[in-house]
Amino acid sequence: MRIAVTGGKGGTGKSMVAVSLVVEFARNNFTMLVDADVECPNDHLMLSAKRKKYITVYQPIPKWDLDKCAKCGRCAQICKQNAIVFVKDKYPVFVKDLCIGCKACIVVCPYGAIAETTKEIGIIYTGKNYNVNLVTGELKLGELASGEVVAEVRKKAEEINEKIKAEVMLIDSAAGIGCPVIASLVGTDYIVAVTEPTPSALHDLKRVLYLANHFGIKHGIVINKFDLERNFCLKIEEYAKKAKIPILGRIPYRKDFVDAMIKMKPAVVIYPQYKKLFKEIANKMSKEQA
Ligand code: SF4
Ligand code: SF4
Repeated sequence: MRIAVTGGKGGTGKSMVAVSLVVEFARNNFTMLVDADVECPNDHLMLSAKRKKYITVYQPIPKWDLDKCAKCGRCAQICKQNAIVFVKDKYPVFVKDLCIGCKACIVVCPYGAIAETTKEIGIIYTGKNYNVNLVTGELKLGELASGEVVAEVRKKAEEINEKIKAEVMLIDSAAGIGCPVIASLVGTDYIVAVTEPTPSALHDLKRVLYLANHFGIKHGIVINKFDLERNFCLKIEEYAKKAKIPILGRIPYRKDFVDAMIKMKPAVVIYPQYKKLFKEIANKMSKEQA
């Protein structure tokens, strides 16, 4: 079973929910947690798992042979990233940091002056703690292609899982609904959308569940900090009822979750009173997914 934990808005508690759920699953199952929030990976911290480098992620980039270049400027025209600067009668100048490796410039050059090389864009690590196998990616500072790193993290997680044979694979996605999130959701069996009782969280929740519907993936909602603004919590519940989306659980707003993060331990490990809550979410989700 592959479950994506997402939610749209940042800061709703996706990673806390993903880590707590996977630790709960790990009591009875072989599990894997995939940290696909490559711009800001933190699951290894919350799991206190020591990371070990698994592989470097590379991205294709163009390489010019200026002897063949006729200074036509077509490569600069096609580049949507503005990674190629062209001034009439001069050779094109490449701004490597802006390139996302789409290869359009290579295809469009009529003189075969552009070949392909690579640049390093990220690293994939593995780790293990609390019986949870962790695969986590990290985008290199200054790089833009987070979607590509997430896609690679997913690919490598599947490769590693051929040996581990995890029954439950949880994918902790980034915030938003862009490429990195889409790369986290594809091929999953269920989506857990973590939200909070605020207008911006509800707005983003609707957007991410639009994606879930688009991909035809079953989904449910977890309302974190539900007692922070009870009236707005009711609005989320009304929306869920109207859209026939199950509410998998409601997590209270407590300092314990912040403390757990500071102590770099899963909340369900140091505060056993929350075990029941996450077990119920896990059970409800498994039932909904089946
Ligand atoms: S498209 Fe090819 S020939 Fe034209 S400027 Fe770019 S590299 Fe030079
Ligand atoms: S590979 Fe794509 S993004 Fe990179 S320079 Fe060429 S056209 Fe621009």
